[in-house]
Amino acid sequence: MSIVLEARELTRHYEISRGLFKPSALVRALNGVSFSLQAGKTLAVVGESGCGKSTLARALTLIEQPTSGSLQIAGQEVATAGKAQRKQLRRDVQMVFQNPYASLNPRQKIGDQLAEPLLINTGLSRAERREKVQAMMQQVGLRPEHHQRYPHMFSGGQRQRIALARAMMLQPKVLVADEPTSALDVSIQAQVLNLFMDLQEQYETGYVFISHNLAVVRHVADEVLVMYLGRPVEMGPAEAIYLRPLHPYTRALLSATPSIHPDPARPKIRIAGEPPNPLAPPAGCAFHQRCPHASERCRVEVPQLRLLDARQVACHHAEQIAG
Ligand code: SF4
Repeated sequence: MSIVLEARELTRHYEISRGLFKPSALVRALNGVSFSLQAGKTLAVVGESGCGKSTLARALTLIEQPTSGSLQIAGQEVATAGKAQRKQLRRDVQMVFQNPYASLNPRQKIGDQLAEPLLINTGLSRAERREKVQAMMQQVGLRPEHHQRYPHMFSGGQRQRIALARAMMLQPKVLVADEPTSALDVSIQAQVLNLFMDLQEQYETGYVFISHNLAVVRHVADEVLVMYLGRPVEMGPAEAIYLRPLHPYTRALLSATPSIHPDPARPKIRIAGEPPNPLAPPAGCAFHQRCPHASERCRVEVPQLRLLDARQVACHHAEQIAG
């Protein structure tokens, strides 16, 4: 299967002004993120607010330029792409946002909003565009008469279906979904996730699913990337990570997930405190102030990603912690 997205040491730093006569501060929002995504597969990017996952989403969708590192979309290096290639790359990567209402034009009929990407990017006739729109509407569970309606006339779940339909109109190679179900009612979330998966199966789109909740992405993820303060801390096949998380942060995120059948062999782990201030990150392991296993080594030495038990993990003591 072909690789549709490849990031190598992707980094995004921001300079923040601290006022007159003070030197500016550097925020390392994204620090050396590498992964590859195959067509038809899903990478779940998980972490608390401020971990860098939204910055990563903006870099992958070309909204923001990385400070350094390489990003390839369907084999094309973004940094060296010319104007025409960049236009094509923007078609190849689409995004679905957390709040579908904000991403839809409130004054435009749904049918016209779905036809717009075709109008701008293809030479299809009006009749051909209408045919494609009707076919996509049917696929996402909308009726033909919805064509003439406005966004406010739909429920939250329907609006997310419309946003997904719009993102899929050009059959992108990659879809980045930023918390696509977290604003929806729990009873609707599973339906919308199933729709994502149905469309992926049909179009072989590679998905990057951004979420703060490991449980939400459990049934859709093929690979998982857990991030903390801009860095990957655990990354690998979803099966291995859900079965036996090795990094204390991943274990705590998983443990925070309510379960109908709690595993007595896996005690609840609470993460104490808040993530550190990105303007003044701690020395050593960025998680050490909240980690119950932190040692003196953790306070001074940054743990690097290393291969362990079928995944990569950045923790000095992962073997002993996982048992
Ligand atoms: Fe905890 Fe140390 Fe591992 Fe960091 S390196 S997660 S502080 S045990």
